[in-house]
Amino acid sequence: MDIFKIMQESDYENLIFSQDKETGLKAITCIHNTTLGPAIGGLRIWNYESEEDAITDVIRLAKGMTYKNAACGIYAGGAKTVMMVDPEKNPKTEEMMRAFGRFVEGMNGRYLTAEDVGSSEADMDAIYQETNFVLGTNMKPGTSGNPSPSTARGVYIGLKATCKEKYGDDSLAGKKIVVEGLGNVGLCVCKYALEEGAEVYGTDINEKAIEKAKEAGVKIINRDELYSFDGDIYCPCALGATVNDESIPQFKYDIVAGSANNQLAEERHGDILKEKGILYAPDFIINAGGVIHCHDELYGGFNRERMQVKVDQIYDQLLKVYEIAKKENISTNKAANRYAEDRIRKVLGTKKIFNRTVKASINPR
Ligand code: NAD
Repeated sequence: MDIFKIMQESDYENLIFSQDKETGLKAITCIHNTTLGPAIGGLRIWNYESEEDAITDVIRLAKGMTYKNAACGIYAGGAKTVMMVDPEKNPKTEEMMRAFGRFVEGMNGRYLTAEDVGSSEADMDAIYQETNFVLGTNMKPGTSGNPSPSTARGVYIGLKATCKEKYGDDSLAGKKIVVEGLGNVGLCVCKYALEEGAEVYGTDINEKAIEKAKEAGVKIINRDELYSFDGDIYCPCALGATVNDESIPQFKYDIVAGSANNQLAEERHGDILKEKGILYAPDFIINAGGVIHCHDELYGGFNRERMQVKVDQIYDQLLKVYEIAKKENISTNKAANRYAEDRIRKVLGTKKIFNRTVKASINPR
């Protein structure tokens, strides 16, 4: 693996390997870009098949965080950590989290960690014993707690903005919305949509999630009818890469908009959606509610009202992205990339001004 070549291609700043023999810690932190502020990105704990897979994943995810953080207007760069575990031979432990916390402390605020796939609030609590550069712990004064409801709020607001663009009216009333994945975010999106008078359909692989959704008024459909379903909006809230060569030809939907990360299997699938006249709400714009939620802690403690105002700005951010896409005649995913890059480029321009001290944009203590 030609690591420096890969780093140079997308101008990554750091790739940091943290190892502790005693606890079995094997973590890789990738800081992609800190132009806008300290790099924020969650801790993914996963049983990777190889070190190469872990490196590939962390590099891809860190860059994604730069774009997400830039587009949603928070003062943060992008990063990610992956921790390599094996549930049988080397499971995650408190000691492992604390060892990682000590390494994060050593990064001295260039990187702040938070929850992601495989890590929990309890893990963040253990990390917090060793560093203040952690978000989403239960223990820290002014903590923000579970971000999923804010992610769902952002998706709901984003659905409205996308309807405004597609139909000229942002009401969800009467719209047939199909939600894939009725978990923390998906179910909450269903509830918002039902409240506004949408016809909400859903699917999941977990029976408990299905039962809870049924109770809320969601009509359950089979997984195999999901892509060809005669609905208005496909709302992916489970896994990534579901918009692909197999699913797109079956779509009768007008809109694809949901919380899942990396919904397009490849960037070119955004072009295919555009050709078919299906409006795609770029995932990293519509699902930024969670990071906006966590970042709010850094303004001297979490404030729900202030956070919600920022989450609701996803509406205007999406409309701007759609405007760029129309003006440039490009797919909405490409327009979203330009929108994020534009903010970074403009802020980078101010760095030419001499300043004896760099103002710290966080005060975690
Ligand atoms: P979750 O684990 O609570 O829910 C996911 C649901 O999807 C589960 O009920 C699961 O059973 C279901 N599922 C898994 N595979 C499926 C399949 N093949 N078909 C149908 N259903 C399937 O996760 P979540 O926190 O609700 O996150 C949902 C998505 O949104 C994820 O892709 C996540 O990365 C993304 N996301 C979440 C947040 C957040 O704040 N939670 C923030 C940004 C992005």
